[in-house]
Amino acid sequence: MTITEHQIDTGAWTAERVKAVDKEYVIHSWSVQGSLDPIPVAGGSGSWFWDYDGRKYLDFQSQLVNLNLGHQHPRLVEAIRAQAEELCYIGPGFAERSRAELAEMIANLTPGDLKMSFFTTGGAAANENAVRLARHVTGRHKIVARYRSYHGATAGAMSLTGDPRRWAAEPGISGVVRMLDPYTYRCPAGHPDPCPVCSGGPHLEELLQYENPETVAAVIVEPVTGTNGLLYPPDGYLQSLREVCDRYGIILIFDEVMAGFGRTGEWFACNHWNVTPDILITAKGLNSGYVPLGAMTVNERISDWLRTNMFWGGMTYAGHPLACASGVASLRIMQDEGIVDNSRAMGERLGAGLAQLAERHPSIGDIRGRGLFYGVELVKNRATKEPLVPFNAKGPAAAPVGKLLKAAMERGVYLTANFNVLRLTPPLVINAAEIDLALGVLDEVLALADEHYQG
Ligand code: PLP
Repeated sequence: MTITEHQIDTGAWTAERVKAVDKEYVIHSWSVQGSLDPIPVAGGSGSWFWDYDGRKYLDFQSQLVNLNLGHQHPRLVEAIRAQAEELCYIGPGFAERSRAELAEMIANLTPGDLKMSFFTTGGAAANENAVRLARHVTGRHKIVARYRSYHGATAGAMSLTGDPRRWAAEPGISGVVRMLDPYTYRCPAGHPDPCPVCSGGPHLEELLQYENPETVAAVIVEPVTGTNGLLYPPDGYLQSLREVCDRYGIILIFDEVMAGFGRTGEWFACNHWNVTPDILITAKGLNSGYVPLGAMTVNERISDWLRTNMFWGGMTYAGHPLACASGVASLRIMQDEGIVDNSRAMGERLGAGLAQLAERHPSIGDIRGRGLFYGVELVKNRATKEPLVPFNAKGPAAAPVGKLLKAAMERGVYLTANFNVLRLTPPLVINAAEIDLALGVLDEVLALADEHYQG
Protein backbone atom coordinates (compact mmCIF):
# COMPACT_ATOMS: atom_id res chain seq x y z
CA MET A 1 0.00 0.00 0.00
CA THR A 2 1.34 3.46 -0.84
CA ILE A 3 0.56 6.87 0.62
CA THR A 4 -1.28 7.96 -2.53
CA GLU A 5 -3.72 5.04 -2.46
CA HIS A 6 -5.42 6.70 0.49
CA GLN A 7 -5.46 10.19 -0.92
CA ILE A 8 -8.71 11.96 -1.79
CA ASP A 9 -7.10 13.48 -4.86
CA THR A 10 -3.56 13.59 -6.14
CA GLY A 11 -3.92 16.60 -8.41
CA ALA A 12 -2.83 20.15 -7.72
CA TRP A 13 -3.50 21.70 -4.31
CA THR A 14 -6.50 23.83 -5.18
CA ALA A 15 -8.61 25.55 -2.52
CA GLU A 16 -11.22 22.80 -2.88
CA ARG A 17 -8.67 20.05 -2.34
CA VAL A 18 -7.14 21.76 0.71
CA LYS A 19 -10.65 22.08 2.18
CA ALA A 20 -11.64 18.50 1.41
CA VAL A 21 -8.47 16.92 2.79
CA ASP A 22 -8.54 19.20 5.85
CA LYS A 23 -12.17 18.27 6.53
CA GLU A 24 -11.43 14.57 6.26
CA TYR A 25 -8.19 14.35 8.24
CA VAL A 26 -7.41 17.41 10.41
CA ILE A 27 -8.66 17.83 13.97
CA HIS A 28 -8.96 21.56 14.74
CA SER A 29 -8.64 23.05 18.24
CA TRP A 30 -11.64 23.66 20.52
CA SER A 31 -14.33 22.72 18.01
CA VAL A 32 -16.99 20.26 16.97
CA GLN A 33 -15.27 19.17 13.77
CA GLY A 34 -18.42 18.88 11.68
CA SER A 35 -19.41 22.46 12.42
CA LEU A 36 -16.27 23.94 10.86
CA ASP A 37 -15.75 25.59 7.52
CA PRO A 38 -12.20 26.99 7.65
CA ILE A 39 -10.95 29.33 4.92
CA PRO A 40 -8.12 27.72 2.94
CA VAL A 41 -5.26 30.17 3.27
CA ALA A 42 -2.75 30.45 0.45
CA GLY A 43 -0.29 33.01 1.81
CA GLY A 44 0.40 36.14 3.82
CA SER A 45 2.58 39.21 4.06
CA GLY A 46 2.84 41.82 6.80
CA SER A 47 -0.58 42.50 8.33
CA TRP A 48 -2.41 40.58 5.58
CA PHE A 49 -3.19 37.02 4.58
CA TRP A 50 -5.14 35.78 1.55
CA ASP A 51 -7.08 32.84 0.22
CA TYR A 52 -6.65 30.90 -3.04
CA ASP A 53 -8.90 33.34 -4.90
CA GLY A 54 -6.61 36.19 -3.91
CA ARG A 55 -9.12 37.62 -1.45
CA LYS A 56 -7.12 39.55 1.17
CA TYR A 57 -7.85 39.83 4.88
CA LEU A 58 -6.37 42.36 7.31
CA ASP A 59 -5.21 40.21 10.22
CA PHE A 60 -6.45 42.31 13.13
CA GLN A 61 -5.70 39.39 15.48
CA SER A 62 -2.10 38.54 14.58
CA GLN A 63 -3.54 35.02 14.29
CA LEU A 64 -3.46 33.78 17.91
CA VAL A 65 -1.96 37.11 19.05
CA ASN A 66 1.43 35.64 18.24
CA LEU A 67 2.32 36.97 14.80
CA ASN A 68 3.71 40.22 16.17
CA LEU A 69 6.06 40.82 13.25
CA GLY A 70 3.29 40.00 10.79
CA HIS A 71 3.23 37.33 8.12
CA GLN A 72 6.43 36.28 6.34
CA HIS A 73 8.81 38.93 7.67
CA PRO A 74 11.72 38.49 5.21
CA ARG A 75 14.51 38.81 7.80
CA LEU A 76 12.84 36.32 10.09
CA VAL A 77 12.29 33.82 7.30
CA GLU A 78 15.92 34.25 6.24
CA ALA A 79 17.19 33.66 9.80
CA ILE A 80 15.29 30.37 9.99
CA ARG A 81 16.63 29.35 6.60
CA ALA A 82 20.21 30.22 7.65
CA GLN A 83 19.89 28.23 10.88
CA ALA A 84 18.41 25.28 8.98
CA GLU A 85 21.47 25.25 6.77
CA GLU A 86 23.84 25.53 9.74
CA LEU A 87 22.26 23.06 12.19
CA CYS A 88 18.58 22.06 12.30
CA TYR A 89 18.72 20.21 15.57
CA ILE A 90 21.00 19.36 18.43
CA GLY A 91 19.85 17.85 21.74
CA PRO A 92 19.15 20.07 24.74
CA GLY A 93 22.21 18.64 26.52
CA PHE A 94 24.62 20.44 24.18
CA ALA A 95 25.58 24.11 24.21
CA GLU A 96 24.34 25.73 21.01
CA ARG A 97 24.86 29.27 19.70
CA SER A 98 21.31 30.42 18.93
CA ARG A 99 20.02 28.98 22.21
CA ALA A 100 22.76 30.67 24.25
CA GLU A 101 22.36 33.95 22.38
CA LEU A 102 18.60 34.03 22.84
CA ALA A 103 18.86 33.30 26.57
CA GLU A 104 21.40 36.11 26.96
CA MET A 105 19.22 38.53 24.99
CA ILE A 106 16.20 37.70 27.16
CA ALA A 107 18.23 38.27 30.33
CA ASN A 108 19.25 41.68 28.97
CA LEU A 109 15.77 42.74 27.80
CA THR A 110 13.69 41.55 30.74
CA PRO A 111 13.29 43.73 33.83
CA GLY A 112 15.09 43.38 37.16
CA ASP A 113 17.27 40.36 37.81
CA LEU A 114 15.52 37.86 35.53
CA LYS A 115 18.35 35.75 34.25
CA MET A 116 18.33 32.10 33.12
CA SER A 117 15.83 30.68 30.62
CA PHE A 118 14.45 27.24 29.91
CA PHE A 119 13.04 26.99 26.39
CA THR A 120 9.91 25.02 25.55
CA THR A 121 7.68 24.61 22.51
CA GLY A 122 5.02 27.05 23.75
CA GLY A 123 3.33 28.81 26.63
CA ALA A 124 1.62 25.87 28.30
CA ALA A 125 4.81 23.84 28.66
CA ALA A 126 6.63 26.87 30.06
CA ASN A 127 3.88 27.33 32.67
CA GLU A 128 4.02 23.63 33.57
CA ASN A 129 7.73 23.94 34.23
CA ALA A 130 7.32 27.15 36.23
CA VAL A 131 4.80 25.55 38.56
CA ARG A 132 6.88 22.43 39.10
CA LEU A 133 10.02 24.50 39.68
CA ALA A 134 8.22 26.82 42.13
CA ARG A 135 7.09 23.74 44.07
CA HIS A 136 10.65 22.39 44.22
CA VAL A 137 12.25 25.70 45.16
CA THR A 138 9.76 26.42 47.97
CA GLY A 139 8.97 22.86 49.07
CA ARG A 140 5.29 23.91 48.99
CA HIS A 141 2.38 22.65 46.96
CA LYS A 142 -0.45 25.14 46.36
CA ILE A 143 -0.65 27.56 43.46
CA VAL A 144 -2.91 30.63 43.42
CA ALA A 145 -4.37 31.42 39.98
CA ARG A 146 -7.27 33.58 38.77
CA TYR A 147 -10.63 32.92 37.11
CA ARG A 148 -10.32 35.20 34.10
CA SER A 149 -7.19 33.55 32.82
CA TYR A 150 -5.78 31.24 30.19
CA HIS A 151 -2.48 29.48 30.81
CA GLY A 152 -2.51 26.69 28.22
CA ALA A 153 -4.06 23.35 27.36
CA THR A 154 -1.78 20.78 29.03
CA ALA A 155 -3.00 19.19 32.27
CA GLY A 156 -1.35 21.55 34.74
CA ALA A 157 -1.70 24.70 32.65
CA MET A 158 -5.38 23.92 32.06
CA SER A 159 -5.92 23.48 35.81
CA LEU A 160 -4.40 26.93 36.37
CA THR A 161 -6.68 28.33 33.67
CA GLY A 162 -9.93 29.89 34.80
CA ASP A 163 -11.72 30.10 31.44
CA PRO A 164 -14.54 27.60 30.85
CA ARG A 165 -12.32 25.42 28.66
CA ARG A 166 -10.98 24.14 32.00
CA TRP A 167 -14.25 22.36 32.77
CA ALA A 168 -13.66 19.65 30.15
CA ALA A 169 -10.26 18.86 31.67
CA GLU A 170 -11.46 18.47 35.25
CA PRO A 171 -10.52 17.03 37.64
CA GLY A 172 -7.20 18.72 37.03
CA ILE A 173 -3.98 18.81 39.03
CA SER A 174 -4.28 19.24 42.78
CA GLY A 175 -3.45 22.31 44.79
CA VAL A 176 -4.81 25.10 42.58
CA VAL A 177 -6.55 27.82 44.58
CA ARG A 178 -8.37 30.56 42.76
CA MET A 179 -8.62 34.28 43.38
CA LEU A 180 -10.92 36.87 41.81
CA ASP A 181 -9.79 39.29 39.13
CA PRO A 182 -9.33 43.07 39.16
CA TYR A 183 -12.09 43.50 36.56
CA THR A 184 -12.86 47.10 37.45
CA TYR A 185 -15.67 47.47 34.88
CA ARG A 186 -17.53 44.53 36.46
CA CYS A 187 -15.88 44.24 39.86
CA PRO A 188 -16.83 40.91 41.48
CA ALA A 189 -16.69 42.60 44.90
CA GLY A 190 -18.96 45.51 43.95
CA HIS A 191 -15.92 47.79 43.88
CA PRO A 192 -16.04 49.54 47.25
CA ASP A 193 -13.40 52.23 47.81
CA PRO A 194 -10.77 50.94 48.46
CA CYS A 195 -11.58 47.66 46.71
CA PRO A 196 -9.83 44.63 48.24
CA VAL A 197 -10.07 42.64 45.00
CA CYS A 198 -9.00 45.35 42.57
CA SER A 199 -6.15 46.48 44.81
CA GLY A 200 -4.87 42.88 44.84
CA GLY A 201 -2.99 42.41 48.10
CA PRO A 202 -5.92 42.44 50.57
CA HIS A 203 -7.86 39.79 48.61
CA LEU A 204 -4.76 37.61 48.19
CA GLU A 205 -3.89 37.97 51.84
CA GLU A 206 -7.35 36.94 52.99
CA LEU A 207 -7.23 33.89 50.75
CA LEU A 208 -3.79 32.97 52.11
CA GLN A 209 -5.15 33.06 55.66
CA TYR A 210 -7.65 30.35 54.77
CA GLU A 211 -5.16 28.30 52.74
CA ASN A 212 -2.13 28.63 55.06
CA PRO A 213 0.56 30.72 53.33
CA GLU A 214 3.19 28.16 54.25
CA THR A 215 1.59 25.73 51.80
CA VAL A 216 1.52 28.17 48.89
CA ALA A 217 4.39 27.87 46.38
CA ALA A 218 3.36 30.45 43.80
CA VAL A 219 0.89 33.02 42.57
CA ILE A 220 0.45 33.05 38.78
CA VAL A 221 -1.24 35.90 36.93
CA GLU A 222 -1.31 37.42 33.48
CA PRO A 223 -0.24 41.00 34.35
CA VAL A 224 -2.66 42.07 31.62
CA THR A 225 -5.31 39.42 30.99
CA GLY A 226 -5.41 38.50 27.32
CA THR A 227 -7.88 35.94 26.01
CA ASN A 228 -10.34 36.37 28.87
CA GLY A 229 -11.37 39.94 28.24
CA LEU A 230 -8.32 42.22 27.95
CA LEU A 231 -8.25 43.29 31.57
CA TYR A 232 -5.78 45.91 32.77
CA PRO A 233 -5.03 45.95 36.51
CA PRO A 234 -5.38 49.25 38.33
CA ASP A 235 -2.12 51.01 39.23
CA GLY A 236 -0.69 49.47 42.37
CA TYR A 237 -2.28 46.04 41.87
CA LEU A 238 0.83 44.17 40.75
CA GLN A 239 3.00 45.93 43.37
CA SER A 240 0.50 44.84 45.97
CA LEU A 241 0.69 41.17 44.88
CA ARG A 242 4.49 41.44 44.81
CA GLU A 243 4.54 42.76 48.38
CA VAL A 244 2.29 39.99 49.73
CA CYS A 245 4.27 37.27 47.91
CA ASP A 246 7.54 38.63 49.31
CA ARG A 247 6.14 38.72 52.82
CA TYR A 248 5.18 35.04 52.69
CA GLY A 249 8.07 33.68 50.60
CA ILE A 250 5.75 32.92 47.67
CA ILE A 251 7.05 32.88 44.10
CA LEU A 252 5.34 35.37 41.79
CA ILE A 253 4.90 34.12 38.22
CA PHE A 254 3.86 36.49 35.44
CA ASP A 255 2.43 34.78 32.38
CA GLU A 256 3.24 37.21 29.56
CA VAL A 257 2.75 34.69 26.79
CA MET A 258 0.33 37.09 25.09
CA ALA A 259 1.23 40.47 26.61
CA GLY A 260 5.03 40.20 26.39
CA PHE A 261 7.44 41.46 23.74
CA GLY A 262 5.92 44.77 22.76
CA ARG A 263 2.25 43.90 22.62
CA THR A 264 1.23 46.53 25.21
CA GLY A 265 3.62 49.22 23.92
CA GLU A 266 6.38 48.26 26.37
CA TRP A 267 8.77 45.35 26.03
CA PHE A 268 6.85 43.61 28.82
CA ALA A 269 3.46 44.43 30.31
CA CYS A 270 4.90 44.42 33.83
CA ASN A 271 7.20 47.30 32.81
CA HIS A 272 4.15 49.61 32.86
CA TRP A 273 4.09 49.20 36.65
CA ASN A 274 7.78 48.50 37.34
CA VAL A 275 7.09 45.15 38.97
CA THR A 276 9.39 42.20 38.33
CA PRO A 277 8.19 38.63 38.86
CA ASP A 278 10.38 35.79 40.13
CA ILE A 279 9.51 33.81 37.01
CA LEU A 280 8.45 35.30 33.67
CA ILE A 281 6.69 33.14 31.09
CA THR A 282 6.82 34.16 27.44
CA ALA A 283 6.09 32.58 24.04
CA LYS A 284 4.09 33.96 21.06
CA GLY A 285 5.75 37.39 20.47
CA LEU A 286 9.14 36.02 21.54
CA ASN A 287 9.66 34.86 17.95
CA SER A 288 6.29 35.73 16.37
CA GLY A 289 5.46 32.04 16.37
CA TYR A 290 7.27 31.22 13.13
CA VAL A 291 8.65 28.12 14.91
CA PRO A 292 7.03 26.83 18.17
CA LEU A 293 8.80 28.44 21.15
CA GLY A 294 8.17 29.36 24.77
CA ALA A 295 10.44 30.43 27.59
CA MET A 296 10.52 30.26 31.36
CA THR A 297 12.90 32.92 32.65
CA VAL A 298 13.85 32.87 36.34
CA ASN A 299 15.40 35.47 38.59
CA GLU A 300 18.90 35.36 40.04
CA ARG A 301 17.84 33.65 43.26
CA ILE A 302 16.22 30.77 41.38
CA SER A 303 19.09 30.71 38.89
CA ASP A 304 21.50 30.29 41.82
CA TRP A 305 19.27 27.58 43.29
CA LEU A 306 19.39 25.72 39.96
CA ARG A 307 23.20 25.68 40.01
CA THR A 308 23.19 23.31 42.97
CA ASN A 309 19.78 21.62 42.70
CA MET A 310 18.24 19.36 40.07
CA PHE A 311 16.01 20.90 37.40
CA TRP A 312 13.30 18.29 36.94
CA GLY A 313 12.24 19.25 33.44
CA GLY A 314 13.10 18.45 29.85
CA MET A 315 11.75 17.96 26.35
CA THR A 316 13.21 16.63 23.10
CA TYR A 317 12.64 20.07 21.60
CA ALA A 318 13.75 22.20 24.56
CA GLY A 319 15.77 25.01 23.00
CA HIS A 320 15.25 23.84 19.42
CA PRO A 321 17.86 25.67 17.31
CA LEU A 322 15.37 26.71 14.60
CA ALA A 323 13.07 28.19 17.22
CA CYS A 324 15.88 29.91 19.10
CA ALA A 325 17.39 31.33 15.90
CA SER A 326 14.00 32.78 15.02
CA GLY A 327 13.85 34.25 18.54
CA VAL A 328 17.24 35.92 18.15
CA ALA A 329 16.26 37.33 14.75
CA SER A 330 12.88 38.44 16.03
CA LEU A 331 14.33 40.43 18.92
CA ARG A 332 16.92 42.04 16.61
CA ILE A 333 14.18 43.03 14.16
CA MET A 334 12.13 44.45 17.02
CA GLN A 335 15.06 46.63 18.04
CA ASP A 336 16.15 47.63 14.53
CA GLU A 337 12.65 48.46 13.30
CA GLY A 338 11.41 50.22 16.44
CA ILE A 339 8.56 47.72 16.82
CA VAL A 340 7.74 48.59 20.44
CA ASP A 341 7.51 52.28 19.55
CA ASN A 342 5.25 51.42 16.60
CA SER A 343 3.04 49.36 18.91
CA ARG A 344 2.70 52.36 21.22
CA ALA A 345 2.10 54.89 18.42
CA MET A 346 -0.37 52.75 16.47
CA GLY A 347 -2.07 51.85 19.76
CA GLU A 348 -2.64 55.53 20.46
CA ARG A 349 -4.17 55.93 17.01
CA LEU A 350 -6.37 52.88 17.54
CA GLY A 351 -7.42 54.07 21.00
CA ALA A 352 -8.32 57.55 19.72
CA GLY A 353 -10.32 56.02 16.85
CA LEU A 354 -12.18 53.71 19.21
CA ALA A 355 -13.05 56.60 21.51
CA GLN A 356 -14.68 58.33 18.51
CA LEU A 357 -16.58 55.16 17.63
CA ALA A 358 -17.89 55.02 21.21
CA GLU A 359 -19.57 58.40 20.61
CA ARG A 360 -21.52 56.95 17.69
CA HIS A 361 -22.12 53.38 18.91
CA PRO A 362 -24.01 52.99 22.21
CA SER A 363 -23.19 49.25 22.27
CA ILE A 364 -19.58 50.10 23.20
CA GLY A 365 -19.60 49.79 26.98
CA ASP A 366 -15.88 49.90 27.73
CA ILE A 367 -12.60 50.27 25.85
CA ARG A 368 -9.45 48.90 27.43
CA GLY A 369 -6.01 48.97 25.91
CA ARG A 370 -2.42 50.01 25.63
CA GLY A 371 -0.13 49.43 22.69
CA LEU A 372 -1.87 47.06 20.28
CA PHE A 373 -3.65 45.07 22.97
CA TYR A 374 -7.23 46.36 22.98
CA GLY A 375 -10.54 44.98 24.19
CA VAL A 376 -13.89 46.55 23.31
CA GLU A 377 -16.65 45.41 25.61
CA LEU A 378 -20.08 45.35 23.96
CA VAL A 379 -23.22 45.86 26.04
CA LYS A 380 -26.98 46.01 25.60
CA ASN A 381 -27.23 48.90 27.98
CA ARG A 382 -24.50 51.24 29.21
CA ALA A 383 -26.25 51.90 32.54
CA THR A 384 -26.87 48.26 33.51
CA LYS A 385 -23.77 47.01 31.62
CA GLU A 386 -25.74 43.98 30.51
CA PRO A 387 -23.34 42.19 28.13
CA LEU A 388 -24.30 41.98 24.45
CA VAL A 389 -23.94 38.21 24.81
CA PRO A 390 -23.64 36.38 28.15
CA PHE A 391 -20.49 34.81 29.61
CA ASN A 392 -19.73 31.50 27.87
CA ALA A 393 -22.39 32.20 25.21
CA LYS A 394 -22.65 29.55 22.51
CA GLY A 395 -24.82 28.93 19.45
CA PRO A 396 -27.79 31.31 19.09
CA ALA A 397 -26.89 33.08 22.35
CA ALA A 398 -23.57 34.12 20.82
CA ALA A 399 -25.10 35.15 17.47
CA PRO A 400 -25.07 38.96 17.94
CA VAL A 401 -21.28 38.92 18.23
CA GLY A 402 -20.88 36.10 15.67
CA LYS A 403 -22.76 38.17 13.07
CA LEU A 404 -20.54 41.18 13.72
CA LEU A 405 -17.35 39.12 13.29
CA LYS A 406 -18.71 37.57 10.09
CA ALA A 407 -19.62 40.98 8.70
CA ALA A 408 -16.08 42.22 9.44
CA MET A 409 -14.61 39.19 7.66
CA GLU A 410 -16.84 39.84 4.64
CA ARG A 411 -15.36 43.33 4.57
CA GLY A 412 -11.82 41.89 4.71
CA VAL A 413 -10.97 42.36 8.40
CA TYR A 414 -10.26 39.32 10.57
CA LEU A 415 -11.47 39.86 14.14
CA THR A 416 -12.29 37.57 17.08
CA ALA A 417 -13.99 38.01 20.45
CA ASN A 418 -14.18 36.56 23.91
CA PHE A 419 -17.96 36.40 24.37
CA ASN A 420 -18.91 40.13 24.45
CA VAL A 421 -15.37 41.53 24.25
CA LEU A 422 -13.86 42.22 20.83
CA ARG A 423 -10.13 41.56 20.74
CA LEU A 424 -8.18 44.09 18.70
CA THR A 425 -4.62 42.81 18.52
CA PRO A 426 -3.10 43.49 15.09
CA PRO A 427 0.54 42.79 14.20
CA LEU A 428 2.94 45.27 15.78
CA VAL A 429 4.19 46.16 12.28
CA ILE A 430 0.79 47.58 11.30
CA ASN A 431 0.68 51.07 9.77
CA ALA A 432 -1.67 54.04 10.17
CA ALA A 433 -3.60 53.36 6.93
CA GLU A 434 -4.31 49.78 8.04
CA ILE A 435 -5.47 50.94 11.49
CA ASP A 436 -7.81 53.45 9.83
CA LEU A 437 -9.12 50.78 7.47
CA ALA A 438 -10.00 48.53 10.41
CA LEU A 439 -11.64 51.43 12.27
CA GLY A 440 -13.77 52.12 9.19
CA VAL A 441 -14.94 48.52 9.07
CA LEU A 442 -15.59 48.52 12.81
CA ASP A 443 -17.71 51.62 12.36
CA GLU A 444 -19.87 49.73 9.85
CA VAL A 445 -20.20 46.44 11.71
CA LEU A 446 -20.81 47.96 15.16
CA ALA A 447 -24.19 49.04 13.76
CA LEU A 448 -25.13 45.36 14.05
CA ALA A 449 -24.36 45.42 17.77
CA ASP A 450 -26.29 48.68 18.19
CA GLU A 451 -29.41 46.93 16.88
CA HIS A 452 -29.52 44.99 20.18
CA TYR A 453 -29.09 48.11 22.31
CA GLN A 454 -31.86 48.53 24.87
CA GLY A 455 -30.84 51.70 26.68
N1 PLP B 1 -0.62 31.79 28.57
C1 PLP B 1 -1.30 32.76 27.95
C2 PLP B 1 -1.49 34.08 28.63
C3 PLP B 1 -1.84 32.54 26.67
O1 PLP B 1 -2.54 33.50 26.07
C4 PLP B 1 -1.63 31.28 26.07
C5 PLP B 1 -2.19 31.00 24.73
O2 PLP B 1 -3.00 31.71 24.20
C6 PLP B 1 -0.90 30.31 26.76
C7 PLP B 1 -0.40 30.60 28.00
C8 PLP B 1 -0.67 28.96 26.15
O3 PLP B 1 0.32 29.03 25.18
P1 PLP B 1 0.46 27.86 24.10
O4 PLP B 1 -0.79 27.81 23.33
O5 PLP B 1 1.67 28.27 23.31
O6 PLP B 1 0.71 26.61 24.88
